[in-house]
Amino acid sequence: MPEHRFPEASLTITLKPCLVSREETVKAYKYKLKPSAKVVAIFEAWLAALCELYNAALQERRDAYSINGISISKKDQSAQLPDIKKERDDLARIHSQVIQEALKRLDLAFQHFFRRVKESRIPGFPRFRSRSRYDSFTYPQSGFKLDQKRKKLHLSKIGSVELHLSRPIEGEIKTCTIKREADGWYVVFAVEENEPKPVVMMPDKTVGIDVGIKTFATLSNGEQIENPRFLRNRERELKKAQRRVSRRIKRSNRRKKAVCLLAKKHQRVARQRRDFHFKEANKLAKKYRVIKFENLNIKGMVKNHHLAKSISDAGWRQFISITAHKAEEAGGEVEEVKAAGTTTRCSRCGQDQKMPLDIRIYRCGSCGQIMDRDHNAAINIKERKGRAVLSSRRRDAVVEEARTYRATDPESPTIARPRV
Ligand SMILES: [Zn+2]
Repeated sequence: MPEHRFPEASLTITLKPCLVSREETVKAYKYKLKPSAKVVAIFEAWLAALCELYNAALQERRDAYSINGISISKKDQSAQLPDIKKERDDLARIHSQVIQEALKRLDLAFQHFFRRVKESRIPGFPRFRSRSRYDSFTYPQSGFKLDQKRKKLHLSKIGSVELHLSRPIEGEIKTCTIKREADGWYVVFAVEENEPKPVVMMPDKTVGIDVGIKTFATLSNGEQIENPRFLRNRERELKKAQRRVSRRIKRSNRRKKAVCLLAKKHQRVARQRRDFHFKEANKLAKKYRVIKFENLNIKGMVKNHHLAKSISDAGWRQFISITAHKAEEAGGEVEEVKAAGTTTRCSRCGQDQKMPLDIRIYRCGSCGQIMDRDHNAAINIKERKGRAVLSSRRRDAVVEEARTYRATDPESPTIARPRV
């Protein structure tokens, strides 16, 4: 597969933003695996067992929290593992660090939950995962070895797997994640870079960006980035695939095939979209030191069905978070400003006036300025004081986005109760 289709391979994530310096960055390298049927069977078996463990551990924590109001720690749960392994062969066969890592994922989900409770945001309790949605496991430290010469990956307790090593890895591999996607199996390595890239300071230029529906984005200098509307162009194709899924008999093989096809189509669109975001983010990060977006209440906007299509098409959150990464690499930053009034205020005299969605030109009744609606908004965004987009949030957004391109089977069976 051509390399440019995996722009996520160049994604830089700063780990533990409060503990490590800016320069110590970890890059993700993603490669397609060519596992034998035997290895695939092991992968599937591990995922099934880990999913069950995850749900059981979640159940225990939920009960403890809702019945007794106490929280169980990861340590408490890890301590039970030896006993569980005695009873469960399938878990006993899995590399111990991989099991620990599954519990850690749950722990992270709870940490996020408690953080949201503390910030009095809508918390959203950690959820049970269905088997089809639990699709990766990680060797967090050891148990894997990459032979770059022979293009082979040795996995402890599994065996050797060939991989499509499209580009060499430079640096120290920290973790190894095996991932199931619509079109097969992948490995993702988190690699610590040997030499931090020199930070190039950009000229102190600030730009305001209004993300729009008609055009993808309008800059405060009047430039526009056209909207590729991948999803919209492919809508018919996706709809057709979706209809095929609904026509098939539940749990039949033909249905499974149709679901698979649909997922692949979604995956393709997501990759194209991400590619586009990376390209545009790169251009911006090279040109500007401070890039300002307005703080969009995406959830609120998506509820409005007329706008929903375009907004989810464009995936603003992904774009903003990618731009934040790119800006950071280039020594700049992304800021978010309050959104209230950016479209209704005149960027020249500050007068407010009503601006219904269908009016594309801003004609100020006070000072007479005539300007494209989005251009006017972009200037307002540029002039506002903003808050830097935080690293942890950046990371969350990217991770969240990475999960979205899994097509869902609307009638997938409900989650089985864990049995551990
Ligand atoms: Zn005016």
